[in-house]
Amino acid sequence: MHTETVDTIIVGGGLSGIYAASLLAGMQESFVILEARPRVGGRILSPEHEGFFSDLGPSWYWPEIHPRMAYLIQDLGLEGYPQYDRGLGRFERFNGIVQTVRGYAMEPPSFRLVGGMMALIRKLCERIPEVAIRLNHPVCRIEKTQNGAVVSVGDLDQEPRVQLEAGKVILALPPRLAAATILFEPELSHELSQAMLKVGTWMAGQAKFCALYEKPFWREAGLSGEAFSERGPLGEIHDASNDGCGPYGLTGFVGIPAVQRTRQDVLIEAILVQLASLYGMAALEPAAFFYRDWARERFTATPYDQPPMTEHPVYHPPVGRTAVWGGTIHFAGTETAPEHGGYLEGALATAERAVFGGSDQGNIMILKDIER
Ligand SMILES: Cc1cc2nc3c(=O)[nH]c(=O)nc-3n(C[C@H](O)[C@H](O)[C@H](O)COP(=O)(O)OP(=O)(O)OC[C@H]3O[C@@H](n4cnc5c(N)ncnc54)[C@H](O)[C@@H]3O)c2cc1C
Repeated sequence: MHTETVDTIIVGGGLSGIYAASLLAGMQESFVILEARPRVGGRILSPEHEGFFSDLGPSWYWPEIHPRMAYLIQDLGLEGYPQYDRGLGRFERFNGIVQTVRGYAMEPPSFRLVGGMMALIRKLCERIPEVAIRLNHPVCRIEKTQNGAVVSVGDLDQEPRVQLEAGKVILALPPRLAAATILFEPELSHELSQAMLKVGTWMAGQAKFCALYEKPFWREAGLSGEAFSERGPLGEIHDASNDGCGPYGLTGFVGIPAVQRTRQDVLIEAILVQLASLYGMAALEPAAFFYRDWARERFTATPYDQPPMTEHPVYHPPVGRTAVWGGTIHFAGTETAPEHGGYLEGALATAERAVFGGSDQGNIMILKDIER
């Protein structure tokens, strides 16, 4: 089999992988992104309805505390708009009683992106040569060689479909997923692979729902669209409308554990009934709705990610190592970020670390000057 050779192979075309590629594209280096799915974006996913993009993955960024996101959005010529939070909130008790409560403004203020969070990926891809992005390329094995590593694409129990060699490999995917699905030869140390498996993938056990309407009937009733429920199926609901015009949207995180989310049609029906009890009968007839159960996505979640996460983990590079195999393999992906881990900001920070710095010795971080 012909083995293509490049300077750097990026495993994963989510935000960390795509951003790393956009940084490499500005340098005189050859690289490819190997992405398992038939699309880029990873946990970022924004389906379109009448020119509006609903976020089924991340929708918020916080410019006050996430400087890389704020800078990148500006640099790419994108625009954000504040999360709508005017008006009263709703609170649904276990017994189905719904109360109107004082609304809470998010602190610090959160912003949505015009064009959905996918606009970030689309714009970054414009900076990357098309030939460098290889979709439907699941990496199954990484083998150490004298000059770097050979990366195989395909299924482990079959002959590799494609093989590439590089002096540097950036793992831009959740460490738990990498440890559970990629064969490393020689094996990673027991301590390292255990540490990778232990790191929960942020939001991997979640499911998200978005409904779009022609009229913001909840706003017209003085409600912000924010609601919390002890009863479900949605545990937390927010306004997810276009900026200043329609379509108008409500979005929510499903509060039912992944193992119980077996019948999607039944669940969606129950969600619409819940929205109607919170906001009125108009909620029963959305112009469009979207649903994504991330726990069922094999290129995001593993069986370990099915139980609901109770709190935001403290993330860091696995056993403090940002790179292994003498600097051949570099860890990126938001779950390896010591700051802002789990968030989009963390994904950007780890891409910068993997491209500009990071070593076997651990936490050397050479961050780009984001103040420029
Ligand atoms: C429902 C939900 C809501 C969220 N809300 C927010 C929010 O509001 N704000 C925020 O900041 N963050 C939020 N997040 C988190 C945010 O989505 C992540 O921080 C970010 O997208 C992670 O990017 P990443 O590149 O590290 O990983 P990923 O996006 O997971 O990218 C990894 C990529 O690797 C690919 N891959 C996997 N296995 C292989 C393989 N074997 N070979 C090749 N490719 C492979 C995957 O297909 C994927 O494209 C949310 C996430 C979810 C799911």
